[in-house]
Amino acid sequence: MLADMRSVVEQFKRLDRVLSIKREVDPVDEIPSLMREAEKRAKIILFEKVKGSAFPLINNLLGSMDLLAEVFQTKREGVVREWVARVREPVEPRITDWGPVKEVLRRGEDVDLRDLPVVTHALKDAGPYITAGIVIAKDPDTGIRNVSVHRMQLKGKNNLGIRIVPNQHLGRIQDKYEKSGKDMEVAVAIGNHPFETLAAATSLSFGIDEFTISGALRREPVDLVKCDTVDLEVPVTAEIVLEGKVLAGVREKEGPFGDFMQFYVPPMDNHVLRVTAMTHRHDAIYQTIQSGSVEDIHCLALSREAKIYEAVRNTGEIQALHMAPTLFNCAIAIRKRFEGEPRDVATEAFRAYSWLKHCVVVDHDVDVFDPKDVLWALATRAKFHPGLLLIKDTTGFPRDPFHLHASKLAIDATAPMNQWGEFERKTVRNAGVMRLEDYL
Ligand code: MN
Repeated sequence: MLADMRSVVEQFKRLDRVLSIKREVDPVDEIPSLMREAEKRAKIILFEKVKGSAFPLINNLLGSMDLLAEVFQTKREGVVREWVARVREPVEPRITDWGPVKEVLRRGEDVDLRDLPVVTHALKDAGPYITAGIVIAKDPDTGIRNVSVHRMQLKGKNNLGIRIVPNQHLGRIQDKYEKSGKDMEVAVAIGNHPFETLAAATSLSFGIDEFTISGALRREPVDLVKCDTVDLEVPVTAEIVLEGKVLAGVREKEGPFGDFMQFYVPPMDNHVLRVTAMTHRHDAIYQTIQSGSVEDIHCLALSREAKIYEAVRNTGEIQALHMAPTLFNCAIAIRKRFEGEPRDVATEAFRAYSWLKHCVVVDHDVDVFDPKDVLWALATRAKFHPGLLLIKDTTGFPRDPFHLHASKLAIDATAPMNQWGEFERKTVRNAGVMRLEDYL
């Protein structure tokens, strides 16, 4: 049996990283703020009883770098390298006859999405949103599968509003269906192993099945099983699957919704997904991800960090790199070999990833996973002249009416060359070895 989301939860329980909430909680008044608290503690949170739903709810599965590292069986700084090494060899998925996601089948009138503990995340969100679903569809011309992540607003018993960005892969596929007057069949898998979620969140070339990437991350084929009401296949390991179609020529108001930047996207006319069936495990766990949370940014950032890493590793001796707290800034730790090298590294990073707006290059002894440590390097080692590189009149994140992403900044926050005697950080004997608990 392939690893699934619940096996990861069990693994994290053994590491004492899961907060299990046994009492009944309200999905509107209690859950969103409790999820924030779990995020602060870098713990997973499992709500065993959600008011109005028979399904337990899980959140913050990848809410810290060490949890992500645990999934990749490496250390924090090794995650990007591990990603790069694994995705080099895509693995085709395998079709099987049955899987636990088929234990319960509801069709047509028996489907009621309101049975799921769908969370209203932010105060001004238009309503409850499914945020951790991976959407599966096929290109009508080639039959090649596409897997991607989309926000979906719960609008009723079997209706979802779905945001499909026009030029992204699913948008291009939907456009093909719509031009020939056809609805687009989709399946939405919820409660996935992190490798499926991470693969769905990548931006690959059009025409690559993202399940070949999750297969690469797993180092074995993803097992898929046929849907009941649509001609698609879904991972057997998913907790819940929604089958349905995105209606051709139909748009309805969707939003506002608090997005990954933590701003509200305004209401807009978006697609409608009519759900035709729901299958799930008999004891399915529903998963949600708060947009803009540490977990969300990890899902979005990893493939982008890999892109940057592949571009800069020939320019500098890279110790580690990390994007935090969002997708527009990156800290890169290097072992500097000559003055000016940080600027070369940052230039390559900007070239590799166009949304990057702000890049800080630090020495190898700075923890890029700790924004405070990066700020320390800025304050104590950076020389802003000539260590600043300002790139004007360029492009970045495309949704940018105020031109906030039309310029980029790189900062060399490394110590001057050959002055390590002056800039070596103090440490104490046995740092990180002693446990205060042993002395209490
Ligand atoms: Mn794609």
